[in-house]
Amino acid sequence: MNIAVIGTGYVGLVTGVCLAHIGHDVTCIDINEEKIKQLRTGHSPIYEQGLEELLQTTIHKNNLHFTSSFQNGLTNKEVIFIAVGTPQSDDGSADLSTLYTVCEEVRKYIHRNTVIVTKSTVPMGTNGQIKTIIEQKTAENISIQVVSNPEFLRQGSAVYDTFNADRIVIGSDDKEAIKTMEELYKPYKIPIVKTDLRSAEMIKYAANAFLAMKISFINEIANLCEQVDANVDDVAQGIGMDNRIGEHFLKAGIGYGGSCFPKDMNAIITLGKRSGYTLSILEAVKYVNEKQNDWIADKILKRFGDLKGKKIAILGLAFKAGTDDMRNASSIPVVQKIISAGANITAFDPVAISNAKHILPKEVNYTELLEEALDHADCAVILTDWKEIKDYPIHLFKQYLAHPIIFDGRNCLSLQAVKECGIEYYSVGRPTIK
Ligand code: NAD
Repeated sequence: MNIAVIGTGYVGLVTGVCLAHIGHDVTCIDINEEKIKQLRTGHSPIYEQGLEELLQTTIHKNNLHFTSSFQNGLTNKEVIFIAVGTPQSDDGSADLSTLYTVCEEVRKYIHRNTVIVTKSTVPMGTNGQIKTIIEQKTAENISIQVVSNPEFLRQGSAVYDTFNADRIVIGSDDKEAIKTMEELYKPYKIPIVKTDLRSAEMIKYAANAFLAMKISFINEIANLCEQVDANVDDVAQGIGMDNRIGEHFLKAGIGYGGSCFPKDMNAIITLGKRSGYTLSILEAVKYVNEKQNDWIADKILKRFGDLKGKKIAILGLAFKAGTDDMRNASSIPVVQKIISAGANITAFDPVAISNAKHILPKEVNYTELLEEALDHADCAVILTDWKEIKDYPIHLFKQYLAHPIIFDGRNCLSLQAVKECGIEYYSVGRPTIK
């Protein structure tokens, strides 16, 4: 099929590249001309495992094209995906201004029957609005069909997730549009959930809210474990083996961050309020998460009292392993708190440093060498569970640190190993080792 994808961020680029890989002819459109230039040369502006290789092979096969011209990119397309950002507005709701700007562009250049597919996460009713905008002024003999096709990929494994998703959700009030989407996705061989527009929109928010709830739930249990000398890892294993609960998203830590969970939680809570329904569970989930972000900085302050002049190694900055994305990363409030308490920070991250530099205080020093961060530091603070950190030989922590003290916000290290090595160790919901 002849496809356009608008927005070449994490979702749009991965969608475009993967659809090109299964044989569709895909044109990706973005207003960021620098990005488009870079993409044309086969270089990905974001880090995702396997993405750059696929980008290069699909460009080479002539299945994938990039443009910043809506006119060139949209002309004669059967299916147009919209994958632009829907960030949080000041009042907590989803900001749909970019999405609606894009719809205006789409309206200008549609001259044939077209299926418009929204991949962006949008509140219930938005796709109806998209149809109204695009249908205005399009010729009467042209049919515009609208589909909500929310995205569930995880940053850090986005390409894998696209080819191995648990399900694809297709919401439309138009049977023909659903058929077109089934055809388009056929090569993926992934089960499809078919529903109406609004239910598809709701599925995305409900899915993210449920996952955020699991994280806050296990964090709350972890906090109680600390009070009563239990071990949250064992508790998570013990409950997760029950199929009704499931083992995923039961890892205690410093709370969720990233570009999706915090904003989508705020969007659904705001939507609830506007609809006259208070989402009490989700408000509690958000509250627990905000408190959890403070957990590690408070522990460090309590341990040292005064951080003035202390050298602290921050290990991991990205909001999760496998990505260079720093949007709403849990590392941000932690680093800010430690810096304002007077500490000197050297931060290690394998891929997120250039993004971090735009966000974190200018006082932070950076390194891509873990030992350089550790060297003569008063303690190490683990904020992202990168493999490089999890697999780092424990004895080297001891060798490089001035004082063998580790605060582990991701429960990366084995209690037994740190104990045997003589490291003072604080993790989340597990016994402290002294
Ligand atoms: P992103 O910020 O990485 O990418 C958005 C892209 O849109 C950027 O490349 C930007 O230059 C481009 N853009 C902005 N204005 C434009 C315009 N007027 N015309 C064309 N392009 C324009 O965003 P993302 O993380 O890919 O998220 C996109 C949507 O998908 C959001 O609604 C998000 O909630 C949702 N989503 C994201 C993820 C994720 O893991 N990132 C997962 C599921 C769903």
